[in-house]
Amino acid sequence: MSQKPPPKQFVKTPINGTKFVLLVSSAKGGVGKSTVAVNLAFALQNLDLKIGILDADVYGPSLPKLLNLNEKPKSEDGKAMVPLEKYGVQCMSMGFLVDEQTPMIWRGPMVISAIKTMTQKVLWKDRDVIIIDMPPGTGDTQLTFAQEVKVDGAIIISTPQDLALLDVKRGIQMFDKTGVKILGLIDNMSYFKGDDGKEYKIFGDSGVEKTAKEFNKEFLGHLPIHQDLRSSADKGDPLTHSDPNHEVSKLFKNIAEKIKQSFL
Ligand code: ADP
Repeated sequence: MSQKPPPKQFVKTPINGTKFVLLVSSAKGGVGKSTVAVNLAFALQNLDLKIGILDADVYGPSLPKLLNLNEKPKSEDGKAMVPLEKYGVQCMSMGFLVDEQTPMIWRGPMVISAIKTMTQKVLWKDRDVIIIDMPPGTGDTQLTFAQEVKVDGAIIISTPQDLALLDVKRGIQMFDKTGVKILGLIDNMSYFKGDDGKEYKIFGDSGVEKTAKEFNKEFLGHLPIHQDLRSSADKGDPLTHSDPNHEVSKLFKNIAEKIKQSFL
């Protein structure tokens, strides 16, 4: 009788040069994950943590634009790359290596290899936290991080819309199945505050909070739709860095404090 082969044991390689690895994930695209990831990076930096950001979206990197970074990383030995640095944050993105206009027409194994290079062949130095800005979905990149990289926690960003929440539920289940600890959920584009002072819930009400409750996860906070968040991102100087006392930066600060507590 043939015996069932034992389940494959994955070796989880740590990212050198950092104490913690935090995945910022969204399941669905366009919900503001990259915007939240960079603003969270500076909110955590404002709490005296040394931060790195790894943009793991190989097909659609956004870090070069969000931080207005266009240099190529250098390598002294031709093997390992020195991350770029902006406002004290160390950064790596596939967007630093290829031209902005060039589409990445890659199959899964090439993406996996790029992720391994960016996690193993980058000389991150003296970081408390590296924030990984994940691509949307539950594909090769997510699986590579879940199975082959030592990850300390993940947060999930969503808008409160049913359409986005369906994907969030899939994302939660993927992390639960692969043993990645979910630190909590963030509700982005939660409301828009008009000149009349009223809060307009454009994408629905409390959907992310309810989903967190349903799956027994922590709810980390609401973030509004705010023009300053968008315009600062377009300028390459995230709001939590350019204006840490802005009302929205304060909301990021509250979330950053919760994240800091949950794994430091
Ligand atoms: P994702 O990484 O999920 O694809 P992005 O961070 O690129 O999403 O955000 C999509 C668009 O929405 C961008 O133009 C960004 O500036 C804008 N955006 C994201 N969150 C907010 C917000 N809370 N308020 C205003 N604009 C936002």
